[in-house]
Amino acid sequence: MTQPIRVRMAPSPTGDLHVGSARTALFNYLMARRAGGAFVLRIEDTDAQRSDPAREAGIYDGLRWLGLNWDEGPDVGGPYGPYRQSERKDVHREAVQQLLANDDAYYDYTTAEERAAEREQQRAEGRPQRYSGIGRHFSAAEVAERKAAGVVPAVRFRAEPKPIQFDDIVIGSIRVGPDEVDDFVIARGDGSALYNMAVVVDDHHMRISHAVRGKDHVSNTFRQVLLYEALGWTPPAFAHLPLVVNRRRQKFSKRDGAQWVGEYRTNGYLPEALVNFLIFLGWAPGDEREIFSLAELVQEFRLERVNRADAVFDPQRLDHFNGVWIRRLDLGDLAERAWSYATAGGLKLSPDQRGYFRSALELEYERLSHLNRTAELMDFFFDDELVPDMRQVRYRRHSAAETAQALELVAALVDEAEPFDDPTLEARMRALASDLDWKAGDLFMPVRIAVTGRRATPPLFATMEVLGRQRCRERLQRALTGLAELATA
Ligand code: GLU
Repeated sequence: MTQPIRVRMAPSPTGDLHVGSARTALFNYLMARRAGGAFVLRIEDTDAQRSDPAREAGIYDGLRWLGLNWDEGPDVGGPYGPYRQSERKDVHREAVQQLLANDDAYYDYTTAEERAAEREQQRAEGRPQRYSGIGRHFSAAEVAERKAAGVVPAVRFRAEPKPIQFDDIVIGSIRVGPDEVDDFVIARGDGSALYNMAVVVDDHHMRISHAVRGKDHVSNTFRQVLLYEALGWTPPAFAHLPLVVNRRRQKFSKRDGAQWVGEYRTNGYLPEALVNFLIFLGWAPGDEREIFSLAELVQEFRLERVNRADAVFDPQRLDHFNGVWIRRLDLGDLAERAWSYATAGGLKLSPDQRGYFRSALELEYERLSHLNRTAELMDFFFDDELVPDMRQVRYRRHSAAETAQALELVAALVDEAEPFDDPTLEARMRALASDLDWKAGDLFMPVRIAVTGRRATPPLFATMEVLGRQRCRERLQRALTGLAELATA
């Protein structure tokens, strides 16, 4: 019988979901969904100072927003809980005791000063800074003396000098030489486990079949392999995802782009676009396709296809995906999502304006690159006090006074046009321009500025249709007042 696929993501509760963690979550999620396995969320909150349960909320929000739902976790429970590392201290402690009992670990009473002196000497001699195992050799009397002097011990794993090797699904066989791993700390003196120890114990007890995480964890994996061996447990399969780098091939950092999933959301990215972007940080379909929904990825994804090469984080590509996804959404769905950005951006919308909002968005969404630009693009539709600034018109062929006369005729046309729609308005306005013997553009630009307050807008007559007769009429009236003032100035 093959082992069921059980994967996990194990973020520390920092208060939001890091994009790197989101990438890890996505790959794990896809692996679980594809295999019909389980996706486990474990909160690694052993650092009591930095962790508090409220901070988990940001992680849950980010994952849900991306659509990466988990099957087991602190909030939903599951058969292998608890799923918060801070609630698993006894299980960790038991394993630490097992290692101590078998002499695979020891209490180390080395003082901080002794450690510092050792590091200093190694530095001076140009040697790598490794713990040499001073604490292995203290006699019972020395230990008693140190205890009496108040030295707080650490529990260290006894790492014998031998090469360590493991097979990685992405990278292949990896090994390090015999001096690479020193006697590392697995627990504090009170028996509470540190990261490497806790992860091994939890992955084992949660029956994790594959540990899929960032490549920056490879050095931990060597230590974890030793722990599995000493505890007599079979390790999961390992897959280390490529490092995320910027376009200059340096580790992706704050300077290269937003770090938190919440920021991408605030900045107007669609979760579909972010998912589509994140999957390419390490995976490719093997052909030219580049647009994938989460559901399509569940079908396509293979861990075996993950690349070994560093993954370049290219913000322009994310923007490209965002544009593609904005135009892929159906208008109703897009309007639903854009609405909250519009209100956050300061538009005063009343619930009965949903239909109007949607019609206006239909005109603008070709130009909408990020949802947080909704208010900025659409505000003129909703500003009932809009006073068009008629100084924006370039009065070259026709003076302000002539323009005012033409706009009077446009106002009359707006009163009469039946139906008040795009083709009727266009036909009537073109006819008016030709009656006046004006170039069409010379007439349309002042009208555009009058009814929208802007020089650049979606197509004029469609815009007027959406604005409606009354708004167009009121705005033309204000434009005429403005023009009268301009003419007398
Ligand atoms: N808490 C670790 C992290 O956030 C988990 C690493 C792992 O997947 O083992 O990086």
